[in-house]
Amino acid sequence: MQNSHNYTCNYCFKEYKPTKRGRQKFCTTSCRVAHFNAKKKIKQLQTIEKTSKETITEPQKDTPKVNLPDITNAAIGHAASSAIISFFTPKNKKPVTKQDLDNLKTTIQGGRYRPVLNCPQNDKGETAYFDLERNEVIFSFNKLV
Ligand SMILES: [Zn+2]
Repeated sequence: MQNSHNYTCNYCFKEYKPTKRGRQKFCTTSCRVAHFNAKKKIKQLQTIEKTSKETITEPQKDTPKVNLPDITNAAIGHAASSAIISFFTPKNKKPVTKQDLDNLKTTIQGGRYRPVLNCPQNDKGETAYFDLERNEVIFSFNKLV
């Protein structure tokens, strides 16, 4: 029974005849070194895994410190965030557009006098007009508009 005296190498799992009985675990020195290095590497990997797990878990304990603009810019996008800015900007603080000027021009071109629709004619039969230049109501028998 030659086999019963053989040892199995802890690294390469080959059977070998021990030179030192009872203490030897590896067939060769290179297997012993390789096994030691492999063990070291496994320990390193386990440490890295543990560290990375801690890195992931740690921020969850704290309240996330994220600014609101970061969220709006990243998640909603630029177009939406400018819409939000526009929403919070009061209408009367917006710059005057060409359309606004055109609207004003049309109003002025309608004439200096505008008939006051909810004011009845006076006892002389004159129609009420609003004088846009003087900001007052006048009565005129002539059709001013
Ligand atoms: Zn070996």
